[in-house]
Amino acid sequence: MKPITIAIDGFSSCGKSTMAKRLAKELGYIYVDTGAMYRAVTLYALQKGVIAQGNVDTHALIAALSAIQVAFTPDEGVLLNNEPVEDAIRSVEVSQWVSKVSSIKEVRQKMVELQRAMGINKGVVMDGRDIGTVVFPDAELKVFVTADPKVRAQRRYDEWTAKGMQVNFDEVLQNVIDRDYQDQHRAESPLVQASDAIVLDNSYMTREEQQIWLMKQVEKVCCTRI
Ligand code: C5P
Repeated sequence: MKPITIAIDGFSSCGKSTMAKRLAKELGYIYVDTGAMYRAVTLYALQKGVIAQGNVDTHALIAALSAIQVAFTPDEGVLLNNEPVEDAIRSVEVSQWVSKVSSIKEVRQKMVELQRAMGINKGVVMDGRDIGTVVFPDAELKVFVTADPKVRAQRRYDEWTAKGMQVNFDEVLQNVIDRDYQDQHRAESPLVQASDAIVLDNSYMTREEQQIWLMKQVEKVCCTRI
């Protein structure tokens, strides 16, 4: 079976990463979590004081971009300047700032360039917001994932409390709603469903059901194209 490019886009906290990772494993494909890349840049900005007094210093962040290296390893996940940051990028603070950082054109240009290089040989499952529209508009399979905001907030809340983090459900829900809004209304590559994407509403689906559904879509694409 010829390797294809699979783009999984959609709203935050829909479980895209979990389903994309599992799909990549089953197909023997590379998996790229592009949200983790934007989160790593946000973490850098927080660490270096580029985000301070409730503001992102856009000029300082653009100037620092050449000093920011983002990479992935199979064992440690995302690396920021060679340091594993998989846990640190999931903090509430990073989640609050990431949509602002990811709306900066220069940040997106750098990330998109890296993402295209990672998927150059196909055989990749990439999840994010603009994979099917901007990064790989020619992807053979595009999935747009959505779910009820309350269901998504509950998933994030469960994940954070399981890690012992003190969070308030209403704040988590507000963060989900705010990020949806910011991602959909930014000038640079807003979150939109590609016209040729297939919608997956996973509000009431188990992970198993989602995997079966995804594999069916892969089979359909691969069978019709070979
Ligand atoms: O997928 P995740 O929720 O970790 O993504 C974090 C944030 O990164 C999103 O809310 C969005 O602002 C940004 N993002 C993006 N483009 C992508 C992936 C993520 O703008 N391709």
